[in-house]
Amino acid sequence: MSEKTLIQAELEAREAMVRLGASLFQRGYATGSAGNLSMLLPDDTLLATPTGSCLGELNADRLSKVGLDGTLISGDKPSKEVSFHLSLYLNNPECKAVVHLHSTYLTALSCLEDLNMENAIRPFTPYVVMRMGKVPVVPYYRPGDRRIGEDLAKLANGNRAFLLANHGAVTLGRSLRDASDNYEELEETAKLIFTLGDRRIRYLSEEQLAELRR
Ligand SMILES: [Zn+2]
Repeated sequence: MSEKTLIQAELEAREAMVRLGASLFQRGYATGSAGNLSMLLPDDTLLATPTGSCLGELNADRLSKVGLDGTLISGDKPSKEVSFHLSLYLNNPECKAVVHLHSTYLTALSCLEDLNMENAIRPFTPYVVMRMGKVPVVPYYRPGDRRIGEDLAKLANGNRAFLLANHGAVTLGRSLRDASDNYEELEETAKLIFTLGDRRIRYLSEEQLAELRR
């Protein structure tokens, strides 16, 4: 890629991140300064949301640019949580962007006792299976604990969505839009789980799941 195309691609990436942050904030997926986004740039560095920033008011010129080893290249200091995003980029070749939010329904789901740690969402609609497959759970650690990243590194390969116990959720994707679409699908599914409540759910059968995975 020529120097000029690289600069243009980075400008577009910065604008896309500001737009997506505002959209997520306006639709209630993020509140206050919670949540963070990152995406891979064509020169293999990361663009990420700064520490303490509100997703609704991101500034394209101040977004953090960091190396895949976590060192700051330019812009404001990245969110502390970006360190666990790095685990996903380094351990899943499909990962080109990461969305991490504390949205209401996924965070509520992450607080339930007896979650299946291998897959927190037993499929009852096709969409999570088709977009993401399983949703493994990272046990609770205090915010900023490096074990969040260590556990995600182990789970990264082959997975696109993760629940962080008593905290929120993380999704990855082939683009920032794809990672966000995955997150939104996951949040809608968590909302359905609480909407269904104690009613008996007709889960998809093994045969129906096999058909979706094909
Ligand atoms: Zn968080």
